[in-house]
Amino acid sequence: MNSQPALPNIDTTYMIDFLARLLDTPSPTGFARQAMELVEQEIAKYPEVNVEWTKKGSLLLTLQAETPTGPKRALTAHADTLGAMVRQIKPSGRLELTEVGGFAWGSVEGENCLVHTRHNGTIRGTILPHEASVHVYENVRDGKRDNRSMEVRLDEPVSNADETRGLGIEVGDYVFFEPRVEVINGFIKSRHLDDKACVAVIMAVFKSLHDANLKPAVDTCFLISNYEEVGHGGSSDIPEGVDELVALDMAAIGDGQASDEFHATICVKDAAGPYHHELSTKLRDLADSYQIPVIVDTYVHYSSDGKAYWRAGGDAAVALIGPGVDSSHHYERTHTDALLDTSNWVLAYLLNA
Ligand SMILES: [Zn+2]
Repeated sequence: MNSQPALPNIDTTYMIDFLARLLDTPSPTGFARQAMELVEQEIAKYPEVNVEWTKKGSLLLTLQAETPTGPKRALTAHADTLGAMVRQIKPSGRLELTEVGGFAWGSVEGENCLVHTRHNGTIRGTILPHEASVHVYENVRDGKRDNRSMEVRLDEPVSNADETRGLGIEVGDYVFFEPRVEVINGFIKSRHLDDKACVAVIMAVFKSLHDANLKPAVDTCFLISNYEEVGHGGSSDIPEGVDELVALDMAAIGDGQASDEFHATICVKDAAGPYHHELSTKLRDLADSYQIPVIVDTYVHYSSDGKAYWRAGGDAAVALIGPGVDSSHHYERTHTDALLDTSNWVLAYLLNA
């Protein structure tokens, strides 16, 4: 154990600040360019990180070892999030939406949003059930929330479809949910901590290695993917020849789950089956040797970019780790402790051969 390299310091203030900026940058699946550019700008502070844009619009980052080995390991985290698109402009001028990613409509009820138009900037509104007022409708409490019953009320004086079209709104326009970022008592509350929290972890790890002038044990790639929420973020762009892929993604919390908001979790099985037992064991042993308390869990309704990689024919060993996130795909919350432990775990992995 004495032969293990010590872990350099993680700057949690920096990590949370970057996370808040990333959360405030809309990036529903298919529309993540702006968030990717924010990541690219931040990485410019760490010139040892090689940055490559993939054709699909994700970022492939590479850190070389002291003696370059060629890519041996990859990690991945996704910057795309849930969101919606305009499905139709209703005769009332309000908008019917179609969901991007998997969420329950009740989780966005009452949320403010921005409609991104092609030529007229963004237009603000609120996602509400059509039958919202308890003073008017019988069925407000028990009514089903789905894409037919929910609509966007625009903050513009429109009362018919032509007026809404006059604002430049068209079918297929993206709709961003307000993230409502709040940092309080060590907690971070926001939509889309899945998986921006792990992108922030990677950034904090880059800073930590940079400040300590350390390099990973082997050449390591980091894919910041942009199609995870629809199931194929990790299907491409992981370099051929890597031996191991560690997906960084949130741990799910709820009844029957072992994970919590204060710790990092390793998921050994999700809806798409088991992860690689030997790699998972190696990561658990590594955490033990650095006294990082990690939780082991299985997820029921969950898959990851690691599984997308396997499904697409990837041949490396795959494991999944990440911070616990409460109320995932709703108004989420995690704690700085979980982000710090995840960062230290990633550092331990990078620094040990
Ligand atoms: Zn995720």
